[in-house]
Amino acid sequence: MKEYSCPDCRTIIAHDDMNIKEGVGVCSRCGKISKLIDLVEEFDSADYSRLLYEKPPRGIKLVRDKMNPMGDVTLTYHRINPAVLFLIPFTAIWSGFSMFGIYIGPFLKDGKIPLEQALMGIPFVIGTIILLISVFSMLFGKKILTLSNGKGTYAFKVFGIGRTKHFELNRSTRIENSETNYQVNHNTLPQITITNGSKRVNMFAGLRYDAMDYIIALLRSVAR
Ligand SMILES: [Zn+2]
Repeated sequence: MKEYSCPDCRTIIAHDDMNIKEGVGVCSRCGKISKLIDLVEEFDSADYSRLLYEKPPRGIKLVRDKMNPMGDVTLTYHRINPAVLFLIPFTAIWSGFSMFGIYIGPFLKDGKIPLEQALMGIPFVIGTIILLISVFSMLFGKKILTLSNGKGTYAFKVFGIGRTKHFELNRSTRIENSETNYQVNHNTLPQITITNGSKRVNMFAGLRYDAMDYIIALLRSVAR
């Protein structure tokens, strides 16, 4: 069973000194009466900050200001999705054949491309662009979380380009794992959701569970 300690003097509160029905525990040393729910939260956050002294899971890079350990923190998450091993040859073949067959081949042969054919090829151009963006974001995309006093930002960036989301981070912020609308092999991909009142920010869609635990721990350790 987990042990809970007095928030004032750190003495372990014996099970006999807890009144589950009333939801309180009394410290045998200093006599402080605490709500059990506060003791549980105290325990969890201590547990989380301990996790942060361990080496981060693969794919996570954590940069803290050495001069000010309580100051800004930047976390970068980058893991190459194995699906890219399928997507690269698929893109090469699909885009290669369509672009060569519709545009490059005729252009090399006749020096021009018939208008009808150029128009007919537009869906293939769009498909090629989407495939290339997917491949590049899988290879070079970075998820970046920055946390400073009471505020945070999250961005998914490819070569420095991407949208940044802003959120508040304080004691009343809810930080939890949730589910995206995406599925892979009938498994719903997870994400992290930050809720402040009615404002929700979703982040890190599809991350691995070890990374998720670590990032939630970091967020919770800063949100206080
Ligand atoms: Zn005490």
